[in-house]
Amino acid sequence: MNGLDHKGFAVAGAMTVTSLMYDITPKLQSGSAANVLHPTGIPWTWPYLIHSGLRLDSIETVVMKVVFYLVLIQLASLPDRLERRKTGDFGIPGKHRGCTHSCFFLAFLILLGVMISVLGWQFLVAHHILLDPVMTRVLTTGAVALFLAVMMHILADSMTKMGVRALWPDESLMGVLPQDMRFTNTSAGPSLVLWGMYFLAGTLFALGVIGF
Ligand SMILES: [Zn+2]
Repeated sequence: MNGLDHKGFAVAGAMTVTSLMYDITPKLQSGSAANVLHPTGIPWTWPYLIHSGLRLDSIETVVMKVVFYLVLIQLASLPDRLERRKTGDFGIPGKHRGCTHSCFFLAFLILLGVMISVLGWQFLVAHHILLDPVMTRVLTTGAVALFLAVMMHILADSMTKMGVRALWPDESLMGVLPQDMRFTNTSAGPSLVLWGMYFLAGTLFALGVIGF
């Protein structure tokens, strides 16, 4: 899958995930849990934009959405970029779609995020520094976007014929569908699925089901 496809898949996927999170936990308005689960604030659907315009939203919400989608688009191919393709290059050595395309890597990112926030918080308390709540939200939103970018990248690759080494260090390649139903990188399949997905995401956006 090429970089542009990964960006499109990441955006449509993240819109779905963040909107779903907002639907499941609508009462969460502030605090760390809200920062993590609602990184972009209230989802902007087409009916929402038509009826309320941007009057209800603060500049803070706008900033979060910009940060979120910028990070998401920039890092949509991060798992590939972290791999060392040829000797001498910077990156993690190993087979293509290995470590950086696995559940291990996702768990590592969660652990890293928790560690940075706990240690960072301790450091700030120890040095009597007060972090601005907006700054905390920007950092959390960026971190959630990074995680979703990696997750969507792995999910997209797992829909192709080759699959991913999801249980790395186990070497077996696997995918979300049986291999016969997955697509080769060069066939029309991925484009059809992607355009179908964009169409679906667009329709759901227009109906007010998902937003960005
Ligand atoms: Zn990849």
